[in-house]
Amino acid sequence: MIYLDYAASNPMDPRVHEALVEVLAWTGNPSSVHAFGRKLRIALDDARSAVAKLIDVPANDVFFTSGATEGNNTVLLGYFRRLRELYGSDRELRLLVSAIEHSSVRVNLGRLEAELGVIIDKLPVDGDGVVDIKRVGNLLRDSTAMVCVMWANNIIGSLQPIAEIGRLISAIRQERGSNGLPLVFMSDAVQALRTESVKPREFGVDILTLSGHKIYGPRGVGAVYIRSDLELAPLIIGGEQEAGWRAGTENVAGIVGLGQAATNLLAERSVDRAKVVDLTQRLRTGLREQSELVVIGDTARSVPGILYVASTKLSGEILTLKLDAAGIAVSSGSACDAGTRKSASVLQEICSSQIARHGGLRLSLGRFNTQKEVQSVLQILSTLV
Ligand code: PMP
Repeated sequence: MIYLDYAASNPMDPRVHEALVEVLAWTGNPSSVHAFGRKLRIALDDARSAVAKLIDVPANDVFFTSGATEGNNTVLLGYFRRLRELYGSDRELRLLVSAIEHSSVRVNLGRLEAELGVIIDKLPVDGDGVVDIKRVGNLLRDSTAMVCVMWANNIIGSLQPIAEIGRLISAIRQERGSNGLPLVFMSDAVQALRTESVKPREFGVDILTLSGHKIYGPRGVGAVYIRSDLELAPLIIGGEQEAGWRAGTENVAGIVGLGQAATNLLAERSVDRAKVVDLTQRLRTGLREQSELVVIGDTARSVPGILYVASTKLSGEILTLKLDAAGIAVSSGSACDAGTRKSASVLQEICSSQIARHGGLRLSLGRFNTQKEVQSVLQILSTLV
């Protein structure tokens, strides 16, 4: 079997597996004061430091979640609920959000509108799925309280102008002054962290979400960075864990796995990246040689390791099934959109209606893929399309 579905989930690094399994066997609750509890608490704190180091933020600003879906839900609802508490129901509050966010952001937009009266402004993308910084400036209003733009798209890999948006927001925040409406920049960095240097403070990002299984860590665990002076209403209540911000006994084994994944990534990302860039280049060149396939997006403005191709003849779904039968695992869209029969938002935004309807293939690679695998995939694809 060849696994080319890293954007859906990464194989777990063996070192992560080892660390996680060890902690799974430990007894106790990290909130207990006795020795069992203290041992777990230390493991939690070490993992928090490892994640903080990876993204270069203070450890106290990192909170663990059950993954980026929970992270995105929590920060969007938590931020606007708190603003409603502070400013009352009459104050106009707007969210400027890119049109290509992951479903865990998108589904919350209707909820923010209906439950909290937040006005949603959509930030369009260009033909390569990249937000235009000028549009951000034009669409920002005095009542915009958050700008939300993912660091890299999960379907086509398009990398967003995070640093530029961050600078613009910092300047506007300064203009508003300390008595003005807060304006924060939130970014879902799930698909960027694997290969890019994601440092929220350096890029002017105030709230960031990430996920364990997209950095060779475990599924079902993630983290959120929240700038220390921001107040958010907690989503899950009923305990004092995670500074009261996310109640519930912590998934210590998963969190330790995430910490190990973060440590590995920090040490090895540049080597990993060079390898993934090379494999992606080989795959892209081979795909472009196949006349029935169209590569979507501008690869110079994408993260390495994610390629989206559409066939002029077969739907993405059929091709995915054919490849599966040939021992190759890819996606026809986002795993989160799969089964809904809806095409991913980014495809609806940038593709012809035929491609948006029939979908294509997302081929996503990582640390453990080889040149031989890429060659096999190209050879098998050529017999299918
Ligand atoms: N955001 C993006 C961009 C993603 O790709 C994913 C995973 N498909 C998520 C959020 C959700 O992450 P998780 O699987 O940890 O809930």
